[in-house]
Amino acid sequence: QEPFMQAAEASKIYVSRRQGSRPATPLLSVIVPVFNEEDVILHFLDATRPVLERSGLKYEYVFIDDGSRDATADILAARLKDGLPGRLLGLSRNFGKEAALSAGLEAAKGNIAVIIDADLQDPPELILQMLEGWRAGYDVVYGLRVDRSSDTLMKRSTAGMFYRLFDRLANIDMPANAGDFRLIDRAVIDALLRLPERNRFMKGLFAWVGFPAMALPYERPPRKAGTGKFNYWKLWNFALDGLTGFTTLPLRVWFYGGALVSLAAFAYALYLTLRAFISGIDVPGYTSLMVALLFFSGVQLLSIGMIGEYIARLFNEAKQRPVYILQDVIEGGTTDQAEQD
Ligand code: UDP
Ligand code: MG
Repeated sequence: QEPFMQAAEASKIYVSRRQGSRPATPLLSVIVPVFNEEDVILHFLDATRPVLERSGLKYEYVFIDDGSRDATADILAARLKDGLPGRLLGLSRNFGKEAALSAGLEAAKGNIAVIIDADLQDPPELILQMLEGWRAGYDVVYGLRVDRSSDTLMKRSTAGMFYRLFDRLANIDMPANAGDFRLIDRAVIDALLRLPERNRFMKGLFAWVGFPAMALPYERPPRKAGTGKFNYWKLWNFALDGLTGFTTLPLRVWFYGGALVSLAAFAYALYLTLRAFISGIDVPGYTSLMVALLFFSGVQLLSIGMIGEYIARLFNEAKQRPVYILQDVIEGGTTDQAEQD
């Protein structure tokens, strides 16, 4: 208990922990987005159920089938029919993990929610420690990946670059190397549900809503089975979503860049004019012309492209389409029923 609380205090961000006691018999919602996870989903249930039983809490699973094209939904539906507590939300197609998480948060009934991947890269045993942190007064207890050696070098270095850039540009404190694996209190869920945006970069939104938070370091193991769902193109766009969602600096920087360039251009024009007056017309200069032309057309395209990134996202927000479409909901049992049999 003691070392744990020390770690909690050391990793504290934002505000001090909540005073006062927590409800004695809270309901825990376990939010699990699944997309083609038939190879691993039974392992996941086998690994998480004993932990949840050990917690002594009432709990419910909230699975979100993000348009799986394999047996994932069938497997889960069968288990829910057999009394597995919770429900399965079937989305009408693949909307992506961020949308699936939003669906899960909306459907969760718990006083607490734990967001966890189905592939067992988020160790279920940590849930017990997260609950300890919650009881101690933290509304957010997030897993911090201290050892990402299960990720490729390329993924680690690009992720590192992203976190550094995000930290520089965005004016929220988003902890580096924290994933979606975390426990959040009902207060945080309700705050997240109030955010109307379509661009749901969850890690950023978690940080944006604030609340007392602590980190729980862990080593991220490789996937238990099945394959990863994110390629580099997806990750690149995910990073752009994150940056454009939380900073307008890439838009505003061109104003200062443009001002500097104009100043330099004015000085150079003055120099050229004076030189023409003093030492006469001097025609050669093809190289400098060409270089300046290419350079500045590049800069212009880049800046227009950046504006385009924002406009595209504005366009998506303006359409006001829902974040996801629910196709069906399959209800399972409850922990109270499970206790009876
Ligand atoms: N996932 C999802 N929709 C998607 C992609 C992924 O619901 O479009 C789920 C997936 O089933 C898993 C979690 O999100 O439970 C994390 O996916 P993955 O393991 O592929 O991501 P990584 O560990 O590489 O970040
Ligand atoms: Mg994974």
